[in-house]
Amino acid sequence: MGLRDRFRPVLDLVFPPRCVYCGRLGSYLCDACRKEVQPIGRDICIRCGNPMTVRGVCHHCRHDPPDPIRGIRGVFFYKGPIGQSIRSLKYQGVRELAPILGAYLADYIREHPIPIDALIPVPLHPQRLAARGFNQSELLARTITHILGIPTRADVLRRVRATQSQTHLNRAQRRQNVANAFEVAPGVDLRGRTLLIIDDVATTGATLRACALPLHRAGAREIWALTVARAHINTVIAPDGSGPPPAEAFLLWDEERKRSAGLTF
Ligand SMILES: [Zn+2]
Ligand SMILES: [Zn+2]
Repeated sequence: MGLRDRFRPVLDLVFPPRCVYCGRLGSYLCDACRKEVQPIGRDICIRCGNPMTVRGVCHHCRHDPPDPIRGIRGVFFYKGPIGQSIRSLKYQGVRELAPILGAYLADYIREHPIPIDALIPVPLHPQRLAARGFNQSELLARTITHILGIPTRADVLRRVRATQSQTHLNRAQRRQNVANAFEVAPGVDLRGRTLLIIDDVATTGATLRACALPLHRAGAREIWALTVARAHINTVIAPDGSGPPPAEAFLLWDEERKRSAGLTF
């Protein structure tokens, strides 16, 4: 138990927790804001997890499925209290949000059970880890371990290349940006294993796929990915709110919605 945890009751008295979304005193994500979260639901692309109006395979995945990932799933839309919680966890270091968000992931796995041998958190580059002090994906995975008993293996995958922020990159640029950024630690044998990659948020799934490729090469039998939130490529703005959306940005969800509804645009 760390110092911060040991003194938590005292700290809570001096600095009582506040809801990161509405500011209400009492908890880091209050009951009222928890009622506002927006689950993505069942109508998704079964491969990349993008929301659609019907359950099926989206037009991206018909040409370019996220192999070797069997399926990517996100629990919530990246907006409102969930979007703010993820940003507060990552950029303001409110670690107390990790068990709250991780519990949502555990709930999702419980409701959509697949036999998983291990959870693989998306690793940070060592420099990023040193700057932030923690890997939010690992904290999320460890919460799932705590609740469901599925082991977290944070030692399997390593980020061997620092990558630029994906915020202003389009789909093709994102894939290029994270290509070969990850590798499996030497001597790790994943033959026959079913793995679930854990991250806080996915947009196009490029990072998850870059993680899955070396896992697959190391023998993993089946790879899935689960994130707290799914972001629209245009809704991810820089923490300082700067910069225009990328020129080639596409409104993926709206596009899908129109396609699914048989509309032209
Ligand atoms: Zn609140
Ligand atoms: Zn898809």
